[in-house]
Amino acid sequence: MWDLRRELCEYGHKAAKLGLVIGTSGNLSVRKGDLVAVTPSGVALDRLNPEDCPILDMEGHPVEGDTRPSSETPMHLAIYASTDARALVHTHSVFATVVATTATELPPIHYNALLLGGAVRVAPYATYGTPELAEHVRAALAGKQAALLANHGGVTIGPTLEKAFEATRLLEWLCEVYVRALGVGTPTVLTDEQLAAVVERAFSPG
Ligand SMILES: [Zn+2]
Repeated sequence: MWDLRRELCEYGHKAAKLGLVIGTSGNLSVRKGDLVAVTPSGVALDRLNPEDCPILDMEGHPVEGDTRPSSETPMHLAIYASTDARALVHTHSVFATVVATTATELPPIHYNALLLGGAVRVAPYATYGTPELAEHVRAALAGKQAALLANHGGVTIGPTLEKAFEATRLLEWLCEVYVRALGVGTPTVLTDEQLAAVVERAFSPG
């Protein structure tokens, strides 16, 4: 599990450097088999060391490490229990949070939204760290790689931490484009036909 803890640090540092997280806001986890390595509670991600990251079983019991796991761990575990995700990234990045405070979904106004599953749902608000929030986020993620958390931030999942992290960067970019487009006029939402044509092109030979 040491490699996974090192990976958590690498992407934690990266998230802080890119301004996706400020201080202790935001948490990451990665799953291997029936174990989950998660970032700790109360440690700024830019100062994270591998030994700070506790290893838990799928019920959240500590297996290794004596630091307290992130307060959002129930959300991470609920999502691992109901998807085939192997990594999760949660941030309070600016544009994702802006959209999460005002919209009921992030509509697909750019075809790259397909990489996250199309429109991104906003999970209804619930207090951080609660089973209610975990349940709302789990439901909002159905069939998607990303969800927004009302008045809170964003979550992305992936088969690897690298892919979940890239999804967080894409979610933030899509939210920024949407917010800036709203400042200029009314953004046009791509139709189902237009999105289907992108999928067809992406999968066509050559
Ligand atoms: Zn949070």
